[in-house]
Amino acid sequence: MRVAVFGATGKVGALLCPALLGAGHEVVDARGAGPDGCDAAVDFTTPDAVVANAESCIALGIPVVIGTTGFDTTAVDTAARDAGVPCFYAPNFAQGAVLMMRFAEEAAKVFPRAEIVELHAETKRDAPSGTARATAERMGTDPAIHSIRLPGLVAHQAVILGGAGETLTIRHDTTSREAFVPGVLLALDRVRSLPPGLTVGLDALL
Ligand code: NAP
Repeated sequence: MRVAVFGATGKVGALLCPALLGAGHEVVDARGAGPDGCDAAVDFTTPDAVVANAESCIALGIPVVIGTTGFDTTAVDTAARDAGVPCFYAPNFAQGAVLMMRFAEEAAKVFPRAEIVELHAETKRDAPSGTARATAERMGTDPAIHSIRLPGLVAHQAVILGGAGETLTIRHDTTSREAFVPGVLLALDRVRSLPPGLTVGLDALL
């Protein structure tokens, strides 16, 4: 596929572009060339930029795989539905994070109280993280979320559940941004077979 990448020079984009080439895709830096003529697009930019980037692709009928977090998903979903274009967004493309969310949802049925601690690199602009918000939504118990931003961190989350005389901690650590690559490649393979609109969460593809 010919893939337009928004955010090709960013921390995730710089890892993703060689992986896309390695998987046999052609890569276009969307910031220079624009997405016209591409089969799909990927966005790892900023909450301020992603909606306009996605809308420019949707207007051209190009499906978009979004990794950027902290944006208005309703705007992208509406534009994609109206245009009949399938798009995909995962707040976390790491497979272990998907399992963490699944286990937290299960544990919340048993433990009466829980809180979430999410820790990310100091450059991350949004807080709480998309993963923490998605986890809380799936748990359905309105857990408090604590956000930590420090140099040296990549992406980490602990869900701590408490009950009478015991606690359970479910923790996921992303030690390298390589963890996000397989999920993005999977989403690119599958996005064109999804229904029009924005499908959310890697769980929908696994
Ligand atoms: P980053 O290193 O700050 O990179 C952001 C990139 O976006 C830079 O290359 C920047 O280029 C570019 N950019 C900014 N505005 C743009 C625009 N209007 N059009 C095209 N490109 C633009 O950030 P990162 O760590 O790679 O993370 C990017 C996003 O992905 C964040 O929202 C982060 O939370 C999210 N993320 C998601 C996952 C997931 O699994 N879903 C995993 C990791 C990160 P300039 O520097 O030249 O402006």
